[in-house]
Amino acid sequence: MFDSITGSIRNSINKIRHKDDAAALKKAITELKKSLLKADVHHKTSKELITEVELETKRNGIGQDSFVNALKQELNKILSTEGNQGFVFSNTPPTTILMTGLQGSGKTTTTGKLASYLKTRKKKVLVAACDLQRLAAVEQLKQIAQQVEVDIYFDDNEKNPVVIAKNAQEKAKKELYDVLLIDTAGRLAIDEELMNQLADVKSAVNPDEIFYVADSLTGHDATKTAITFKEKIGIDGVVLSKYDGDTKGGVALSIAHQVGVPLRFIGTGEKMPDLEVFIPDRIVSRLLG
Ligand code: GDP
Repeated sequence: MFDSITGSIRNSINKIRHKDDAAALKKAITELKKSLLKADVHHKTSKELITEVELETKRNGIGQDSFVNALKQELNKILSTEGNQGFVFSNTPPTTILMTGLQGSGKTTTTGKLASYLKTRKKKVLVAACDLQRLAAVEQLKQIAQQVEVDIYFDDNEKNPVVIAKNAQEKAKKELYDVLLIDTAGRLAIDEELMNQLADVKSAVNPDEIFYVADSLTGHDATKTAITFKEKIGIDGVVLSKYDGDTKGGVALSIAHQVGVPLRFIGTGEKMPDLEVFIPDRIVSRLLG
């Protein structure tokens, strides 16, 4: 998954061959800086990480072990954003989640993956097809719902996603669903209309949480867009899709550090079971190889 970043981080670790070798630590730090840059880690995140790793290594006595431990500790600290992990159920069902993101980010697929994840946990799930922007989105969600065997609410005659979302929530309440996942419209880029529509859906259904699906493959753009969604709509969690294709690996660090919203799940493939709860430790182990 992260062959390139793991390889170059290993390079930096291998620079330290002897104990208390300050010059070697300097070289290791320079090498680490380069690997973080190559891995698309945001410069502010990288700077903070490096400063802390250097300080911590010096504090514990320069050596390969203390460098690795400092690196693990600091990576963990950055990834462990305060807040929820995985899925959180509301005390008053249905737990309503708004799924947001740019077109092509993997929003509809992730909606299906989450539905499947919840279904295997014996939850009664309803998905709502409110992405009326992309022609095939409703059809795609119908197929996914059928595949993972969850119910879907759609209305081919209704053009207003706010009405569909509201009606879906009514149904979910009346028929005692545990969870309602609302797939909302994406755009190729952020625009006013998209944001206004999302804001309208949000105020109509008052969701328990808003998930932002970020495409790992878009690097720095994923971070920037997540910040904009956070500012304009408010997001409670990020799902990093296409993490399987992210050989650079830095986007998780940048989002956790720069957006300040917890990473909740990662998408690790195109299939419905390819969704994992985001666990910082696991990502750190992958980064370090
Ligand atoms: P939407 O426009 O945001 O709803 O995007 P889609 O859900 O249609 O996904 C766009 C493409 O990304 C599809 O081909 C999906 O199969 C693919 N995709 C979504 N999530 C993942 C993932 O975690 N890994 C991989 N490899 N592909 C994914």
